[in-house]
Amino acid sequence: VSAVRTRREPPPLRAVAVRRVEPRSPRLKRVTMAGDGLAGYEPGLPGGSVRLLLPRTSGELVLPTWTGNDYRFGDGTRATIRTLTPLRYDADGDELDLEVVCHGAGPLSEWAATAHPGAVAAVSGPGRGYEVDADARSFLLAGDETALPALGLLVAAVPTASEVQVLVEIAEPSARIDLPVHPGLTVAWHEQADGAAPGEALTAAVLSCRLETDMRIWVAGEAAAMQRIRRHLFETCGVPRSRAVVRGYWKHGRAGGDDPD
Ligand SMILES: Cc1cc2nc3c(=O)[nH]c(=O)nc-3n(C[C@H](O)[C@H](O)[C@H](O)COP(=O)(O)OP(=O)(O)OC[C@H]3O[C@@H](n4cnc5c(N)ncnc54)[C@H](O)[C@@H]3O)c2cc1C
Repeated sequence: VSAVRTRREPPPLRAVAVRRVEPRSPRLKRVTMAGDGLAGYEPGLPGGSVRLLLPRTSGELVLPTWTGNDYRFGDGTRATIRTLTPLRYDADGDELDLEVVCHGAGPLSEWAATAHPGAVAAVSGPGRGYEVDADARSFLLAGDETALPALGLLVAAVPTASEVQVLVEIAEPSARIDLPVHPGLTVAWHEQADGAAPGEALTAAVLSCRLETDMRIWVAGEAAAMQRIRRHLFETCGVPRSRAVVRGYWKHGRAGGDDPD
């Protein structure tokens, strides 16, 4: 008996176009998407997700159909969809900001490197975000460059009376960006060493971090590094699962399209 895998259909794809592109750093592009298609979009909790359908090579927007497992075009080819963090949503202007890491070879990275006003795409979302515990006194937030957009939102959402420690792995010094101002914030930037696997510096930083008893922890980045961090937090340190969220955002050596978790 062959089992046909079906998955819950994602929220509908909304046709949008690029309105503005601004560099946040030489490695991170802010792309503002806009259009009537965004009317009624619900922003959701910080650190959530949005799927971005990239246009076909012709530059035209053709909306694919949900097959029960993935999105395909009429000719059977799979649509190129990548996951991003929804940032500022402005209901008046029907605008949604996204920030894309320009890491090199990959359809999303290449799209962002050349994105220009008027370029078409589609978004679907948002997916689950993070419920910041308003009573928690201390937070550890960690991630690589793909998590920087979410880290900014989370820092802004942490209560001002709390301590918030942020650890970020970056590929090069130019990837540093300003995070929102917060009275209890400390930020440590960890540069990826030459030849090191992505996530190694972040894993080392998290493993050497002193964990407060009541700390709330949020970490996102490369999937294999996230596995090591999960083992450390949950198995070695016995952190209760309800206190920590660890999300694989991409997998080294594998093209994205689905959440790697
Ligand atoms: C919930 C969630 C939120 C996310 N938010 C953001 C966000 O706000 N901004 C953002 O830029 N990304 C974000 N990501 C990660 C992003 O979806 C992946 O990095 C995506 O795979 C990049 O697509 P691509 O087409 O550029 O490369 P792919 O076609 O997916 O991959 C091509 C090659 O590049 C490698 N690769 C992919 N991403 C990276 C990277 N960042 N650095 C180095 N190598 C890489 C792959 O391992 C593969 O070998 C998020 C992911 C999730 C699950």
